[in-house]
Amino acid sequence: MKNQQVILRQFTLIFFLTIISIQEGKTQQIRWPEGKMMALSLSFDDARESHPTVGLPLFEELDAQVTFYVVPNAMRKYEKEWKAIVAAGHELGNHTLVHPCSGNFPWARDKALENYNLTAMRAELLEASSQIEEMAGVKPTSFAYPCGQTFVGRGSQTKSYVPLIADLFVTGRDWLNEASNSPVYADLAQLQAISMDGKNFKEDIKPLLKRAANNEDWVVLAGHEIGEEGFQTTRIEMLRQLIAYAKDPQYGIWLAPVGEIAKYVEEQRASLQRTLSQDLTLAATFDDGVQADYGFGDTKLFTAAAYDELETQQEGLHYSAAEISEGTGVYGDALAFPTKAKPVAFYQAAQNVDYQKENWSGTISLWLSLDPDKELAPGYTDPIQITDVGYNDAALWVDFSDKNPRSFRMGVYGDLAVWNPKNISPDKNPAFNERLLPASDLPFGKGIWTHVVVTYEGLNSKEGLAKFYINGKFQGERKISEPFTWDLEKAKVFLGLNFIGLMDEVALFKRSLSKDEVQMLYHLPGGLHTLLKQQKAGK
Ligand SMILES: [Zn+2]
Repeated sequence: MKNQQVILRQFTLIFFLTIISIQEGKTQQIRWPEGKMMALSLSFDDARESHPTVGLPLFEELDAQVTFYVVPNAMRKYEKEWKAIVAAGHELGNHTLVHPCSGNFPWARDKALENYNLTAMRAELLEASSQIEEMAGVKPTSFAYPCGQTFVGRGSQTKSYVPLIADLFVTGRDWLNEASNSPVYADLAQLQAISMDGKNFKEDIKPLLKRAANNEDWVVLAGHEIGEEGFQTTRIEMLRQLIAYAKDPQYGIWLAPVGEIAKYVEEQRASLQRTLSQDLTLAATFDDGVQADYGFGDTKLFTAAAYDELETQQEGLHYSAAEISEGTGVYGDALAFPTKAKPVAFYQAAQNVDYQKENWSGTISLWLSLDPDKELAPGYTDPIQITDVGYNDAALWVDFSDKNPRSFRMGVYGDLAVWNPKNISPDKNPAFNERLLPASDLPFGKGIWTHVVVTYEGLNSKEGLAKFYINGKFQGERKISEPFTWDLEKAKVFLGLNFIGLMDEVALFKRSLSKDEVQMLYHLPGGLHTLLKQQKAGK
């Protein structure tokens, strides 16, 4: 009886925790609508004859909407039917005017991408869109690269036309890829597309849908003719099985044209960015000096003669503690630490860190550029350390170990008097290692920027948890149950302790960011400036 009660109580607790995490998940993760597990778009290229003649009635019968990437000239013979295709809810995407591809295709020799330039390509894309709009009454927002080729020119004169597509369209679809698209990560200007020509449903398509559902991805399938059999032909029987599967609620698939899903993904990303921007407590881009661009508390950077001489602190850069390095940042300028030095640089933690005496959560995000084994001087170095006393007493940090090969670690230590009452040295104290987490990914290198994130939640409760990410990839987590007691006025956000290298885009948030949000930060176009703009817009 007693056991049953305990189990029941545990079950109730788990149940409530699940509800809380689902509710929290709403704004912090990208989820497909209505509880769907994945998204799926079917697309067909070139405005082939079988699209109006076979595709239109077939998709009407199966009640499915798809994307047709069209070349306007190929539509002329069936203008009436193409209007009916639009009326039936299908999407028309741009596929250029003359379908230029590499001149290695003999049929493309007189319209070879090798002989194109960006100006000609832009003009052609605009002209194709206006012809499509004239004929079918819709302006394309989606584009597919003919032959999946994204370049113009040759050799040293080659240029990518992906930026042009990003400028003119919401999406650009590639061809003959193998991956599905992550709604958080995917570059919409280079959507990955898997061929469905000549494929069977059960052997070829179903396994990749299952994989995508596991990853909650978006699969874009691409084909050409729609028919029974033949070269570059998507089989009718495959489409029947595929659409029946996609419409079976048990598989949780959202089947919609590329443009519709892209619009949803863009909205979700924008809302995630808004949430992120609202929860920023400190942001320093070093693009306009060392003062933080934004802070809940004092945005001024201070420098002091040494870690244990903080009474010498002064506003701004002194003691050669650090310097601005122009144009070398992950975006704009960076904060450089040219030599290992005693002087220290820091922001005040008060208000900039949303410290809480109970249930304290937050996130630390920064970028580092260095070759640890070649550039660092002997000894430990903490690129960032947040504490009111020292590295082992109510502190959060990341460090490189003291000798080559260097390991890179997250350290989260509550009150020293609680976790290490006898103050035993780290080397002899297993409790030290229990609070330390070495990264398994070490992508550092000269000229390479690496994104580092520590999230923490429930500190100052029994359920403290800290997670470590490198370049958006989860490295592991640590549980910390001891309290973090701060004298808030003394607490600092130290930057570059004993460090040699570059640092950029330091940001603190007032809650533990989700995995999706960490990934979003990692590939946020324009970096923190994007969040700062969102923040201003939201006010
Ligand atoms: Zn094509």
